[in-house]
Formats: sequence, C-alpha cells, structure tokens
Amino acid sequence: MEKNNRAVVVFSGGQDSTTCLFWALEKFEHVELVTFNYNQRHSLEIEVAKEIAGDQGLSHHILDMSLLNQLAPNALTREDIEVENAEDGGIPNTFVPGRNLLFLSFATILAKQIDAKHIITGVCETDFSGYPDCRDIFTKSLNVTLNLSMDEDFVIHTPLMWLDKAETWELADELQAFDYVRERTLTCYNGVRGAGCGECPACQLRQRGLDQYLVRRQEMNQ
Ligand SMILES: [Zn+2]
Repeated sequence: MEKNNRAVVVFSGGQDSTTCLFWALEKFEHVELVTFNYNQRHSLEIEVAKEIAGDQGLSHHILDMSLLNQLAPNALTREDIEVENAEDGGIPNTFVPGRNLLFLSFATILAKQIDAKHIITGVCETDFSGYPDCRDIFTKSLNVTLNLSMDEDFVIHTPLMWLDKAETWELADELQAFDYVRERTLTCYNGVRGAGCGECPACQLRQRGLDQYLVRRQEMNQ
C-alpha cells in the first residue's frame, strides 16, 4: 500500500484523540495507533485505549515512556500531587515539560517503521491550556525538524488545532462518532469514563463544550 495512505494516530483513549482516530479513518486507508505509557495517574487510560483500538480493529502500539516520570514528576503522573487549575496565564501543574516534543518524535519514528507518511495528534491551541508544545507553531516547527532528521516528508496533522471543545464535539458528530466518543472515552483526571467525575478541570472543560454543542445541535434541528 502506498505510504501516502498510511497514518499513525497519537492515541490516549480520550475525547480528542478518539475524535482524531475517526478523522483519520475517514482520510486514510490504513491507520495504526500509538499510546504512550508514562505511568499515568490512572492505568485505566491505557486500558481504555486498548479497548477502543481492539473495538476498531486497529494495530495498537504501546510505548513505554516511563522515563518521562523520572524526569518530571507532576500531577498527571503522580497520585500524591493534586491537579490544580492554573493561575491566570500560568502553566498548570499537569504540564509535563517536553511531552509533546517526545511523543510526536516517537510517533514519527514509529511512522517511519510502519511506512506511514501521516501523523495525527489532537493537540489544540484554542482552549489554550498553557502548554507551549500544543501550539501550532511548535508542531509545524517540529514537523520540519523531524523531516530533516530522517530525510522524509512526513505530515503532522492537527485537526483540532483551531477548534474549541464544542466544535470538537461537532466534529465527532459529523464523523458519526458522537455517542461513541461520549460514552467510551476517558478524559477525567480521576479516571471516570464517559461524563467523568464532573469535578476535575478536564471534566469541566469537556462538559462545558458538550453543553454548548448540545444547545447548538438542538437549535440546528429546529
Ligand atoms: Zn474528572
């Protein structure tokens, strides 16, 4: 199969990356998934990712990135550090320095191995979380660097880059995956699937977007 029809999705089993998975399935003939295991707060994240991959019948690569936790223990990887919202304009304590730099680099090395030209990631600048390596300019810059490093012409796609959470729900709906994403994915920092715990920052962001989209969908259907 032509390299141009093959893609790797950076996949965590959450709302964003699952929406990216369905986006990729529509665009490319062959899609594989890569999940990074860095001793996430909840190993359930890995289980959910595995389950969705199996359910969709896709090859799933789980790469051990536990060294990340060794370098930068923080609220996403350590049970004993509380997840907090960022102070205005600050970087939240869920930030793992260099995470997307490493994840996208490893995803692209994997793409090279499986002869895929395309890499898809759900990073997003709109609900700007304060993570510098989620910015559009960063992924574009890294794309150039990775191509130079391997003398290749990989394309890193960021379908959610300019969407807010409501628009991400809308995209899932357009891809016929609204209920699937709503019920099967895990976004919650406290490890509660679907609608989540309702308390943590990830749940609040997800729910706010969902509420906005449901109102809009209602209006469109009237
Ligand atoms: Zn939650």
